[in-house]
Amino acid sequence: KPIRDRQRLPVVPQGIERDDFLAALEDLKAKMGHEFVEINDKALKDGWYMEHPNTHDMMTILDEEELVASAVVYPSTTEEVQQIVLWANKHRIPIFPISMGRNLGYGGAAPRVRGSVTLDLGKRMNKILDINPEDYTCLVEPGVSFYALHEVLKEKGYDHMWVDTPDLGGGSILGNTLDRGVGYTPYGDHWACHSGLEVVLPTGEIIRTGMGALPGNNTWQAFPYGFGPYSDGLFSQSNFGIVTKMGMTLMPNPGGYESFMYTFQKEEDLGPLMEIIRPLRIGMILENVAQVRHVAQGIAAQGLPRSKFYQGSGSIPDEVLHTAAAESPAGDHTWAYYGMSYGPSHIRAYKLAIVDAEFLKIPGAKKVDPSTLPADDYYFSRDRIAAGIPDIHELRWVNWTPNGAHIAFSPVSPIRSADAMKLFGLGKKLHQQYGIDFFPAFIVGLREMHLIVEIVFDRDDTERKQAAMDCLRDMIDQAAALGYGEYRTHLVLMDQVASTYSWGDGALMKFNERLKDALDPNGILAPGKSGIWPKRYRGRGWEM
Ligand code: FAD
Repeated sequence: KPIRDRQRLPVVPQGIERDDFLAALEDLKAKMGHEFVEINDKALKDGWYMEHPNTHDMMTILDEEELVASAVVYPSTTEEVQQIVLWANKHRIPIFPISMGRNLGYGGAAPRVRGSVTLDLGKRMNKILDINPEDYTCLVEPGVSFYALHEVLKEKGYDHMWVDTPDLGGGSILGNTLDRGVGYTPYGDHWACHSGLEVVLPTGEIIRTGMGALPGNNTWQAFPYGFGPYSDGLFSQSNFGIVTKMGMTLMPNPGGYESFMYTFQKEEDLGPLMEIIRPLRIGMILENVAQVRHVAQGIAAQGLPRSKFYQGSGSIPDEVLHTAAAESPAGDHTWAYYGMSYGPSHIRAYKLAIVDAEFLKIPGAKKVDPSTLPADDYYFSRDRIAAGIPDIHELRWVNWTPNGAHIAFSPVSPIRSADAMKLFGLGKKLHQQYGIDFFPAFIVGLREMHLIVEIVFDRDDTERKQAAMDCLRDMIDQAAALGYGEYRTHLVLMDQVASTYSWGDGALMKFNERLKDALDPNGILAPGKSGIWPKRYRGRGWEM
């Protein structure tokens, strides 16, 4: 993106006079230290994944001035977070917490309400507070990335513990987990693997959840539930609190591991493949959160631009993809299954033999021999990630278009043939209708799977961005009509996705709004996050 170094006037949150806002920021600077409050009055710079901005979404699907922060504040302790919250209540200023702000595809570092003050927690609250090598647990602040924890485990010689990492290792463990992100070892469901939170509530009180509420306990990171209502869920994908500490369980080193990749020739092989995967996954013969990827994304993961394969408009034709796949190291195929088997070799051999016999029942299925693949093949990135080693190879498919950015459609379904084919068919039809290349990957959890469809677009192409939005909106509505809902979504789609969870005349949203009004009476914390608007914003046209 062109970098414009001109000054901009800072955005002021709606409903507040500019002078009052600037005076409030001076008040905040006096509390935090001048160097820890930055007004967002410079040109917006997108950077790249490892040097990302904290003022806006560097992969924005809207005009990038739409969802921008007015200022960024850098607290260093829970008590400072508390002070910021009290300040926001005093001045009625919307605030938006990020841990590291690498939530790319789902809004990056942007706040939902333009002109919010962003709390960049990760910059100074980045300590690993505890690693317990006996219980296989840790306690982290928001700024601890998957890379950082992995490196510290190595430095300390704790080879008996692994950290589960998503496809990109530069994100915050705490931020990713709060957004219910996924990684690819058996500990891939991050939310399920966390234990215990410390939270600053929107009115400034500090709570510890689970066993953390018991003074002197030694089980905060070992037993997630404590006593009484289990409140942790209220703080994930929500705007009910700011999490300042989180416990996480670590995976035991399984004593050996072995990746495998199978390819399947035809689009319609997806159906029988799902019927094979389901019992093996639930039975833990397929042990990790695996990926069933379409060849289109596999080709893009080589990092080459689309123009290298096809210069036409509209969705890239299947024949072009197959020609490219035939020339790739893994050979022609439509689907690739990337998995890993864990444990000593004799245990792996037992499980891998079952997988092999089952997968090869599909005519044309092939096991890819890793020794035939070049060292920088995508396979080896999947291998590292499934072994808990953070990586950033996955970024390569974002180069598919110039000024590459992406936004995700992520519905959940059972691991069944009929569901996979319905969602695949729906996505393909709508991508063709809007002339967009279709990158589906099924991320297989234990009893469900997330279909992650990434739309890659050129940030400078307004017309293609609109096509991507129209396609996403149609996919969300049509999937909901079939009974499928998103597990997570981008800031700009949160109202729409929330509206699809409408059972009982919107009973769940009514409940969320009651909680919001009770916990955040001034409506200062992340208004609109997950479609939950505080009272003073409701019915005033904030929804998108
Ligand atoms: P943040 O951006 O800091 O936070 C995420 C969300 O949680 C935000 O909505 C934020 O408001 C909220 N939040 C953060 N901290 C707090 C807090 N302390 N209190 C309250 N709320 C808070 N994601 C996956 O899960 N799995 C993948 O495999 C994956 N692959 C990706 C591949 C590519 C190529 C790209 C570009 C992205 C991918 N992502 C994936 C999405 C994203 O990069 C990661 O989820 C990333 O970890 C999220 O950013 P973060 O950890 O910095 O969290």
